[in-house]
Amino acid sequence: MPVSPESTVLIDRINALLPQTQCGQCSFQGCHPYAEAIASGAADINQCPPGGGEGIRDLADLLGVPPKPLNPRFGVHKPASVAFIVEEDCIGCTKCIAACPVDAILGAAKFMHTVIASECTGCELCIAPCPLDCIIMQPAPPSNTERSRAQKSTLAKRRYDARSLRKAKQETEKVERMKMKKLALLKMQAVKK
Ligand code: SF4
Ligand code: SF4
Ligand code: SF4
Repeated sequence: MPVSPESTVLIDRINALLPQTQCGQCSFQGCHPYAEAIASGAADINQCPPGGGEGIRDLADLLGVPPKPLNPRFGVHKPASVAFIVEEDCIGCTKCIAACPVDAILGAAKFMHTVIASECTGCELCIAPCPLDCIIMQPAPPSNTERSRAQKSTLAKRRYDARSLRKAKQETEKVERMKMKKLALLKMQAVKK
C-alpha cells in the first residue's frame, strides 16, 4: 500500500530521533522500519535500548503521548562502547566488514582487520559473525562520548546511507553483468545454429 506524504513526514521525524545504529534490538530490521512501525501503531515507543530513556522521551514529545520505561524484553540501555579487534587472532575472513552497517571496519581478505573507533556506533553486529571470537567491546573514547546524541545519529545515518547506496549500486551492477553474460551466451548459441 502506498504511504501518504503525511505518513512519510511523520516516519522521517520519528526516524530522526532514533540512534541510527541499525542494531535491530527493537525487533525490526533497522531504525527506519521501527519508525514506520511506530508511525503505523504497530510498535510502541519504548523498544529501542540504544536510545534509552532520553530517546523514549523525545518520541513521546513528538507523538504527544506519555513516556514510559524501556521495555526490558528488547534489551537494556548500556554505556557507549566501541568494538575492538584482537588483531593477532584475526584471520582476515572479512565477515565483520560485511556485518558492519556503518563501514567502521578496515581490512582486506587474509589481512588483519581493525575498527575505526571514531565511526563505531557500538551496535555489536560484528561480534556474532566472527569465527575467532576476536572482537570485544570496550568503553567508547571521549571523542565519541563528547558528541551529542543528534551528532552521533547524524553521523551514523550518513555512513549507513552511503553504505546502503553503495551496496544497491553493486547489486545493480551485478544484475547488469549477469544480463550481459546471458545475452552473450544466447548470441553464441545463435551463431552455432
Ligand atoms: S538503534 Fe534503536 S531503532 Fe535503531 S535498530 Fe537499534 S533498537 Fe532499533
Ligand atoms: S565495528 Fe562492530 S560494533 Fe562498531 S559499528 Fe561496526 S558492526 Fe557495530
Ligand atoms: S570476523 Fe573476526 S576473524 Fe574475521 S576479519 Fe573480522 S575480526 Fe578478523
